[in-house]
This record gives sequence, structure tokens and C-alpha cells, in this order.
Amino acid sequence: MTERETLALYEKTGALMRGHFRLTSGLHSDVYLQSALVLQFPEHAAALGAALAAPFRDAGATTVLAPAIGGILAAHEVARALGSRCLFTERENGVMTLRRGFALAPGERCLVVEDVITTGGSTREVVECVEKAGGVVVGVGSLIDRSGGAAQFAVKRAALATVQAQTWKPEACPLCKTGSEAVKPGSRA
Ligand code: ZN
Repeated sequence: MTERETLALYEKTGALMRGHFRLTSGLHSDVYLQSALVLQFPEHAAALGAALAAPFRDAGATTVLAPAIGGILAAHEVARALGSRCLFTERENGVMTLRRGFALAPGERCLVVEDVITTGGSTREVVECVEKAGGVVVGVGSLIDRSGGAAQFAVKRAALATVQAQTWKPEACPLCKTGSEAVKPGSRA
């Protein structure tokens, strides 16, 4: 699946919209990304997962990990394509943790997968969690990279598509200054 095909699938399902949006954080943006809207269709999730798995086929990962909950569906499909298992991490008292009896074997080779990498912060937390649990991170993958090159990792890195997205505080939003009104995606109002 090419970058163009990935973005077409996102746009077709409303998972990627361009316009003037009010994000949950309160910031305004010219792009709205909600991977859950494309991943709600298992056949799309499977196709995206298989495509993201491809560059990691020789990495020897026996486990794919994602931060809950946004990364789970993508990681699950990557794991299916690689024939590996899929775990997820959750925050416990603010710290990314393996719960539910999930465990790693010493030296277990792990691939960290997210739906969207924005700052790389949560991915980094999963990497730390894996290392603390005795595993080795052999790669980092995301369906979309919207970090603008900011999210750097010392391991192999892949994304199906790169999306440029600007965010502004409402008072500094150039789109508001043109008289346009920011919409909150997903709201039924
Ligand atoms: Zn605005």
C-alpha cells in the first residue's frame, strides 16, 4: 500500500479531514486525524497492518506492542501479518505499564506500533516499558507520521504516510482570523 493509497483510505472514511478544527486539546488545526474511523473496518485495518508489517518482516519481532487504546487495532493487524503476538501497555499512576498478566521473555524482540505518531512521546514510553520488562525494541512503526520529523528513534522506523498538520492556540489561529469557525469533529451539533 502506497502513501497515496493510505491517505485515500483515511480520507474516504473521514479519518483524515482538512479544514478548520477544534481539537480535544482546545487547539485549532487545519487537519483532523482519527484513525479509529478507518480502523473500524476490519478489511481496511488488515490492509494497513499488513502494509506496515512489510518493512519489519526481517526484524525478527515475536511481539508487537502498542500504547492503549489508540494503537491496539493497528498493532493487532501488524502482529497478525507477522505471525507474532500483540500486547498493549496502559498507564498506571501515569507510568506506561504491562498489565493483565502480560510479560516479556528476557531479550524478547519487540516492535512498537502506533496509529499516529505526533510527538513520539507515547512511543518512547512504550519503548522504556519494554526495556524495563527485559525486552529489546527492534523497530517503531506508525500508520501515520504527523511529527514533522520531530519523532526520532535509535531503531528502524517506518510509517505508511506522512501528514503535515499545523496547530494553533485559538487566539493565534490564522483560520479564525479569516472569519471561519472551527468545528469539533465527531460532535453531532
Ligand atoms: Zn481557528
